[in-house]
Amino acid sequence: KVNIVPVSEHGIDPTLLSKNAVKVTSTLQEAGYEAFIVGGAVRDLLLGIKPKDFDVATNATPDQVQALFRRSRIIGRRFQIVHVTFYGGREQEIIEVSTFRAMVDAADSEQVASDRRLKRNELDTRTHATDASGRVLRDNVWGSQAEDAARRDFTINAMYYDPAAQTVHDYHGGMKDIRARVLRMIGDPTLRYREDPVRMLRVVRFAAKTGFAIDEATRAPINELATLIHNVPTARVFDEMLKLLLSGHAWASLQELRKAGLHRGLLPLLDVALEQPMGQRFVQLALDNTDARVRAGKPVSPGFLFAALLWHHVLERWTALRDGGESPVMALNLAMDDVLHRQTGLAIQRRFVADMKEIWGMQPRFERRVGKMPFRLLESPRFRAGYDFLALRCASGELPEEVASWWESFQHAGEAERDQLLADVR
Ligand code: ATP
Ligand code: MG
Repeated sequence: KVNIVPVSEHGIDPTLLSKNAVKVTSTLQEAGYEAFIVGGAVRDLLLGIKPKDFDVATNATPDQVQALFRRSRIIGRRFQIVHVTFYGGREQEIIEVSTFRAMVDAADSEQVASDRRLKRNELDTRTHATDASGRVLRDNVWGSQAEDAARRDFTINAMYYDPAAQTVHDYHGGMKDIRARVLRMIGDPTLRYREDPVRMLRVVRFAAKTGFAIDEATRAPINELATLIHNVPTARVFDEMLKLLLSGHAWASLQELRKAGLHRGLLPLLDVALEQPMGQRFVQLALDNTDARVRAGKPVSPGFLFAALLWHHVLERWTALRDGGESPVMALNLAMDDVLHRQTGLAIQRRFVADMKEIWGMQPRFERRVGKMPFRLLESPRFRAGYDFLALRCASGELPEEVASWWESFQHAGEAERDQLLADVR
């Protein structure tokens, strides 16, 4: 049933491969095991994109893998995987090696996600179970390569590349779908979404990333099943949303999310913001900016991103409270807490919440250009983030452009010029 595709057909460019990933597969193969590069990396290679990380799949058990690599450690509880670390200069690359297994599920992915922060634990081999909505809670046991392929999400994510033989092993018509530029769920889409509702977010993310069309049968059930996202632990939804927002295709992903009706459970307040033209403009500017940075290889701050996504809701509350007689600073504090409290669909990590509050909290200080205030603001370690945020507010039409350009001049001005700039504000 497996289609073994030769290089003449798949045309993978070996220069796009990670040397370390190839080292891992060849070491395993020399020890007598099967080993392949798998999943997203194969998809990207077939698309001619340099993968940002490489996963390896093998029939060796985690203990057998670990025995072969000095700098490796086993992580995971229900499903152990091995992280093999390579150092080259300042860069570090981790190759994730997993043993072929029969089925992945929500609980497993949750486990893998949370275990990345935890330590090694003993192997747990309970059998698989589902909750009332069909979400798989547990799974177990190693499997064959064919089983390993079947538990993956999309056909284009379920291919195996053997760098030594230069062949692609394709079990589910992934090659055909790559050529047709189609995202297709393996198996019955409704069932697969029920097993793990996060797959609905993933299809949207991959559609935005690759520009592929979503196969009709794969798209059709999403609208009806969208609310199942609520059954997924919010920390995992957050992880997946973050991947989506940092994909370099955040704005396109957001459009896809809305088309699929998936945004409601995730960022309900964002929906409100997007319904006003100025809010929509603000979010689009922020995400276009983020996408440009990601594509240029520059760092992006998740706190800044979430601050932007929720800003118009904060602004609305802030304005209402100020109109009700609160002082600007107090009103802003109340508005921030209110919005963060109501943002329950996904658990924004605490360190990001701290960044968001800091960026929001600086905004009134940009508007008060008197006395020593601007000098103090300039010295704040978070000035840059606050200023970038202010610039978005101006560019979206919320504040006059003059405010941002004033701060642009003030930052770079000499002492005398600064006094003049202050005097010019009336
Ligand atoms: P990216 O380039 O964004 O990392 P990826 O395809 O590598 O994309 P990962 O989240 O790194 O995505 O997952 C690696 C592989 O594991 C996927 O290609 C897919 O085969 C499988 N996988 C991941 N999450 C799921 C899931 N929820 N259900 C089924 N298979 C999954
Ligand atoms: Mg990946």
